[in-house]
Amino acid sequence: MEIQRQCFGQYEVLPAATEKVRESSMELFYESTRGGEKGITASQAILRGLAGDGGLYMPESIPQLGMTIEELAALNYQETAYAVMKQFLTDFTEEELRDCIARAYDEKFDTEEIAPLVKAGGVYFLELFHGKTIAFKDMALSILPHLMTVAARKNQVKNEIVILTATSGDTGKAAMAGFADVPGTRILVFYPKDGVSRVQELQMLTQKGANTSVVGILGNFDDAQTGVKRIFGDKEFEKELDGLGFQLSSANSINIGRLVPQIVYYVYAYAKLYANGEIRNGEKIHVAVPTGNFGNILAAYLAKRMGVPFDKLICASNDNRVLYDFFTTGEYDKNREFLLTTSPSMDILVSSNLERLLYLSCGRDAAKTKTIMEQLQTKGKYEITLDMKAFMADFTAGYARMDENAAKIRQLFDDTGYLIDPHTGVAAAVYGQYRGKTKDAKKTVIASTASPYKFSRSVVEAVLGKAEETDEFKLIDELRRLSGVAIPPAIEEIREAKILHDRTCRPEEMKETVRTILNASRGLA
Ligand SMILES: *Cc1c(COP(=O)(O)O)cnc(C)c1O
Repeated sequence: MEIQRQCFGQYEVLPAATEKVRESSMELFYESTRGGEKGITASQAILRGLAGDGGLYMPESIPQLGMTIEELAALNYQETAYAVMKQFLTDFTEEELRDCIARAYDEKFDTEEIAPLVKAGGVYFLELFHGKTIAFKDMALSILPHLMTVAARKNQVKNEIVILTATSGDTGKAAMAGFADVPGTRILVFYPKDGVSRVQELQMLTQKGANTSVVGILGNFDDAQTGVKRIFGDKEFEKELDGLGFQLSSANSINIGRLVPQIVYYVYAYAKLYANGEIRNGEKIHVAVPTGNFGNILAAYLAKRMGVPFDKLICASNDNRVLYDFFTTGEYDKNREFLLTTSPSMDILVSSNLERLLYLSCGRDAAKTKTIMEQLQTKGKYEITLDMKAFMADFTAGYARMDENAAKIRQLFDDTGYLIDPHTGVAAAVYGQYRGKTKDAKKTVIASTASPYKFSRSVVEAVLGKAEETDEFKLIDELRRLSGVAIPPAIEEIREAKILHDRTCRPEEMKETVRTILNASRGLA
């Protein structure tokens, strides 16, 4: 028993001299990475999303799991979620938290395991796409609405909460599905009208729920994102909405209400591998994550800091290799061409959640973090110190071009019959490079972030060399024949579903559109 505790309870050998030791019964507060706020409760941090000074909320220390591997191995997904999340969300009662978890991780997921592990080609794929929208965003966005309504109650928020989100495809649908018909909330999504896949667009336009709205922007994702940020910063509009009984909130990936639920599946995966006899107690394993906004891999890092024996965190990028360059050179530089790839949810040049790692890497020096972020704002680049770089030694980075990605998808399919999507393909390809280069044969978990059905065209092209068919649903049927895997309900649903939303607007009309929609919901013309 003692030895097991060493692995999961006090596995803390990282350069964490600045971390305070916290009694597990104490309340955990949050602070802004830019120094402007301290002593924020978890529920306040969830409600606000972003700190007032533009920083991100971080727990003032990273809690430990404090459980043995035997104890963890006996837990199902929901119980694991409670064990992990209670350490971070200390102002939620046990009943509140268990209730949120039960509502989130239920039959919406097509398997009781919630996040199953599949062994193929010598690695373990952690399938994070068994929720409603068949991509990993569901893992956090299924629970965020419930955390948010509890947080609103705790903080005596009387207004209806309006979630305002710009999406490049996956987040919007997952957020709409999560918030649909959740009392006390409304959700409003803006997406680039011609910038998402047909499946992604149909998923959004057929979304049910009287409190959901989706608007196509006649512009690109940046226009949508900029418009949303502008609305958030508009104090006059905030007052106007308050008068109508509304307040805005955000569901994007910098919210700790999204980050914390993502730690759960890494703890769960390690415990399940142990329970299934795949690894020894305390055996170190690698994790490879297809990375965009740096949220998913940061969750893996936090799982490691909580005590899970992870070795390397392999950060996998696509052709937009800004993170690869950062981890290899110590310089972050977003001044480069934005490339559209077959893994669109990773097409990103500013990885917001990296700010949290920067903050930890300089010993929680908020002034330093603020300076770096200002450099990113003004010059589009910054450089970190050697000490900060050394702190990040847990991470190793790689990137896979589109052709390497497709080749990996095809090879894995030819060798094993297992089909992965092009986001997971990036991680699999980068892991292959790492293994080839280092000959490091430690067992490895690859975060599998989307169902191949969500990106049928790219997957069929990867496997067959080309896709002649132009009709999306015929392609999906072709994938069914190839893979032998049943078409997920999320796809079957949109085949016949009625289009329920048809609103579009120009970028400069976004605020007026929000006003119109919210007035209409109050029965005002
Ligand atoms: C969002 C997303 C990613 C990237 O995750 P981050 O947390 O932004 O790094 C990868 N794959 C898919 C399918 C996604 O939807």
